[in-house]
Amino acid sequence: MSGIRPTGFLHLGNYFGAVKNYVRLQNEFECYFMVADLHSLTTHPDTKELKTNVQRVLSENIACGLDPDNAALYCQSHVYETSELYLYLNMLAYIGELEKTVTFKDKVRQHENNVNAGLLTYPVLQTADIILHRASYVPVGKDQEQHLEMARQFANRFNHRYGDVFPEPHAFNYGDELVKVPSLDGAGKMSKSENQYATLYLSDDDELIRKKVMKAKTDSGPTEPNTPKPDYIENIFALMKLVSADDVIKKFEEDYATCSIRYGDMKKQLGEDMVSFIAPIREKADNIRNNEQYLKEVMEKGAEKARKSAKATMELVRKAMGLNYY
Ligand code: ADP
Repeated sequence: MSGIRPTGFLHLGNYFGAVKNYVRLQNEFECYFMVADLHSLTTHPDTKELKTNVQRVLSENIACGLDPDNAALYCQSHVYETSELYLYLNMLAYIGELEKTVTFKDKVRQHENNVNAGLLTYPVLQTADIILHRASYVPVGKDQEQHLEMARQFANRFNHRYGDVFPEPHAFNYGDELVKVPSLDGAGKMSKSENQYATLYLSDDDELIRKKVMKAKTDSGPTEPNTPKPDYIENIFALMKLVSADDVIKKFEEDYATCSIRYGDMKKQLGEDMVSFIAPIREKADNIRNNEQYLKEVMEKGAEKARKSAKATMELVRKAMGLNYY
């Protein structure tokens, strides 16, 4: 089980941190992937663009290879059981631990005029989304590690108090480690709603991709052999490892080690490899997005599957809590 907020276009971080894993998981497990529209209200209360954004995220997920006939692909707000479980879990979450969450502190800084209670209890709602399907594996990027720890804690706390209902949820990635796709400006991660010029979106046109990559921060290059790479150069290599061929990466690693690297050439190559990676996804997503009827059917089918699973879990929850009086 996993989700993505409809707060803008998907980017390379969403792809490599999350969606790439969804596509593989759907063939091995019973999967639930949702567009987290309720979560987006914590920071984006204006709903004018929401429908368009939901359709975008759905289209982009499908363009990346998610099969709505295989995994349940649905909208969070279509599954009302989420809100019920969120309420019960809120009674098991302590204000102190929620206030200490790194993402909460970041968001308070970014949205100082809208520090709402939903922002504070974001990890509780996320836990409800996950354990509503009694999920064990949660494919997410590195930035979600702490939230998953909290989800484990809330699930265990529920089990302790009311009896074993939930398996422990764990952050999941097919590689050795959770992924963090760095932003092109050398600071932080690529993100939907911040630093848009330093983020590569799956909807960017070819010229924009090349332009963004060429603007990535570099310097005049190492002067001593085998100098450790500064973070912003490490980031460019990290991005190259996502999309470029092994021999290309090897060449630039050798050039760096021998102080003969030309960052202009490296970024040109990276730009071209990014274009080759992103363009087919963008074109597919554009076609899907224009088919509103198809997207409606996807959402309906996904919601039906998700509700079925949610209903079954909530029966167990109410029974465990002693809320079944008749
Ligand atoms: P955003 O931060 O771009 O708004 P979301 O919060 O909707 O994205 O996260 C959706 C998924 O994408 C999560 O699993 C998250 O861990 C992953 N993700 C987001 N940004 C990155 C990144 N730069 N690198 C790796 N994974 C990321």
